[in-house]
Amino acid sequence: MSWKSRLEQLRQERVEQRLWRNRVAIASPQGRFVTVAGQSLLNFCSNDYLGLANHPELAKAGTTAINQWGSGSGASHLVCGHHELHEELETKLASFVGAEKALVFSTGYMANLALPQTFLGRHGLLLEDKLNHASLLDAGQLVTAKMKRYPHLDVRSAERMLAESEAPQKMVTTDGVFSMDGDLAPVVELREICNRHDALLVVDEAHGLGVVGEHGGGVCQQSGISITDNVLLMGTLGKSAGSFGAFVAGDQFLIDSLVQFARPYIYTTALPPAVVGTSLAAVEVMKTEPWRRKKLQSNIQHFCALAESHGLSPNNSAIPIQPIMVGSADNAIRISDELKSKGIWVVAIRPPTVPAGSARLRVTLTSEHEHEDIERLIECMAGLLIGSHSQEVIL
Ligand SMILES: *Cc1c(COP(=O)(O)O)cnc(C)c1O
Repeated sequence: MSWKSRLEQLRQERVEQRLWRNRVAIASPQGRFVTVAGQSLLNFCSNDYLGLANHPELAKAGTTAINQWGSGSGASHLVCGHHELHEELETKLASFVGAEKALVFSTGYMANLALPQTFLGRHGLLLEDKLNHASLLDAGQLVTAKMKRYPHLDVRSAERMLAESEAPQKMVTTDGVFSMDGDLAPVVELREICNRHDALLVVDEAHGLGVVGEHGGGVCQQSGISITDNVLLMGTLGKSAGSFGAFVAGDQFLIDSLVQFARPYIYTTALPPAVVGTSLAAVEVMKTEPWRRKKLQSNIQHFCALAESHGLSPNNSAIPIQPIMVGSADNAIRISDELKSKGIWVVAIRPPTVPAGSARLRVTLTSEHEHEDIERLIECMAGLLIGSHSQEVIL
């Protein structure tokens, strides 16, 4: 089949399954309300958990950095694109998560690609939670090491796989907070089995950073796990930090190895000064405005209590990701469309992003929401779910 016929066939399949995706362009900054095609929508989709994506301090820091250092970094880190500003950010990030060192990457996707290829040889073993983020799973495709997926959160299966393997190097990677379900990885137990089997543990804190842990350090901080020895943390700066980019934090020896061997670090242009300056301000604001984390927690609690009283089953965790299961992709899209006509934006998540039959409305809460916003959302959602027959699908 030619490349073109293949694409035509794939396209037709997607359209028939009603899974063809369309992008929605927003005409405003990120925030509690966003403008789409002239309509103002109450926004329950963003990962901007702390409302920093349009924070004046961040915007100012980005502008100052561009005025002082110019628009481009000029080269990759090992040529001449590594600025003092990058080092300053690395120092701040390491201290924020309590690690010896941190290394800034252009994106979280690239940081995740870098890990197995740096730490595993050709006969190594990479274990992944079945519901890990696509970037962690894709990382396994780039190495000759063997990748195996264990059932979601199943530490026993993971340990069995480690025990049965004769691979010379072993590594376990997991989302800290799972991006589609909002549940938490059992990091304490994972650390134990990694210790027992001389494996490296990588925790992807894309959704935990800034949100969970006493100082917003993530799931590891919340569980009392220090980022040292055989534990690495990957954090992103495009979600709760309201900026862009990512970092890996851990002991100096591991970070040094990434600088030497991680191709997604070496063969790409260093982040531009505006982004680095913005991220520096983001870390500062996360430290100096802890009220944002507290307000987010209060919003999550309000959502969970209200959802429960309306017969929707919330996650009941302290996590801003709250999936409301609706079964079929059609149902998810229909409810999402109806919410939109009422001025509320909740994205429908459907296969292949999540397994077939587990389409959902993925509500994300931020510190920008007011309790009345949440009340409006729940009332509309409960009305639509009960009005349709989707309750049966849930049960
Ligand atoms: C968003 C996300 C990433 C990718 O980070 P980017 O900086 O957006 O490339 C990695 N892991 C998880 C769990 C994510 O949710």
